[in-house]
Amino acid sequence: MEPCGVATTSPSQRTRPISSPASAYARSATRSPGLRWTEMSFSALQMPSGRPTAIVGSSIVSNSPPNALTPERLAERTSALAPDGVRVEAFDRKQIVDMNMGSFAAVAQGSDNEPRLIVMRYEPEGARSDFTLGLVGKAITFDTGGISLKPARGMENMKGDMSGGAAVVAGMCAIADLQLPLRTIAVIASSENMPGGHAYRPGDILTAANGKTIEVTNTDAEGRLVLADALWYAREQGATHVMDLATLTGAMSVALGDLYAGFFSNDDAWADAIAAAGEASGDHIWRMPLHPRYRRYVKSSYADMKNSSDLREAGAVLAAEFLKEFAGDGPWAHLDIAGPAFLERSRGDYLWQPGGSGYGVRLIAELASRIVA
Ligand SMILES: [Zn+2]
Repeated sequence: MEPCGVATTSPSQRTRPISSPASAYARSATRSPGLRWTEMSFSALQMPSGRPTAIVGSSIVSNSPPNALTPERLAERTSALAPDGVRVEAFDRKQIVDMNMGSFAAVAQGSDNEPRLIVMRYEPEGARSDFTLGLVGKAITFDTGGISLKPARGMENMKGDMSGGAAVVAGMCAIADLQLPLRTIAVIASSENMPGGHAYRPGDILTAANGKTIEVTNTDAEGRLVLADALWYAREQGATHVMDLATLTGAMSVALGDLYAGFFSNDDAWADAIAAAGEASGDHIWRMPLHPRYRRYVKSSYADMKNSSDLREAGAVLAAEFLKEFAGDGPWAHLDIAGPAFLERSRGDYLWQPGGSGYGVRLIAELASRIVA
């Protein structure tokens, strides 16, 4: 098995004082790999310690071209990368349908490439039994928008629409590599969003695994549809504290640019923990509001809700309000990482290359470290 683990650094090598075990991840971000994706680079890329870091792994996965990194291939790579102690399963199209994940399956049905629901489990001995971290990632390996086709300009960047899933895979590897005594389940919903002959349509009504019905009004709002069933699954499998990461809305990029991710939560203590981990790790994050009166944005005349609004207002919030319907009971947070996860140009700091930044890996490692501290 290939490690995706920790680059060891001595205190004198650190550019700033960070005391937690996750410091190696913060440190590694100051070394840009200076490499472009090749078929070999994921396994060949070595850090000075001799081991590729999770952040680098995450950013390379985000940069992978969509003809090479299909959902099936992402599942294979995840299995190959998983450190000792992490079990990986991947469910195919038929199994996704059989689990009544009608929302996820609808997004996937327009592509000949099979979807995968990738599930990673880490259950270390000595972990407390009353806390299971649930990490949920959106991994659309290419997003054309589907029948609600995106404009041609910039569409090539939609290979980065799996950055949330990449961060979750790498973050899970980091937790296991750091040997944190924390039960963790990661659920990555991976699919293409294509306008093929079998593609789902605006007007379709889907039934998600939790039984709620969704009127599709825009097939480009697919991320929340795959996450809906993945969130439900994470909760079904016993996650007590859930955090999803997704390149979900252009509206969040417009609001916060490429420096901060925005996030939403139904629980103040969970939100505070995530915000603190974000600031300590260097993955900047800012809390945005949820409110019951936003619910009217996703109200449908034909189903329990619709997946998009025709009002050009609060786009990131209504996506979060939508997800809340599937997040179950207990603390949950949704991180909309559309801005900082995949850069269209140099950010002018240590992230000087366009492409995947590995955003979220440090935050996950820091958060998990703090939970068990
Ligand atoms: Zn989309």
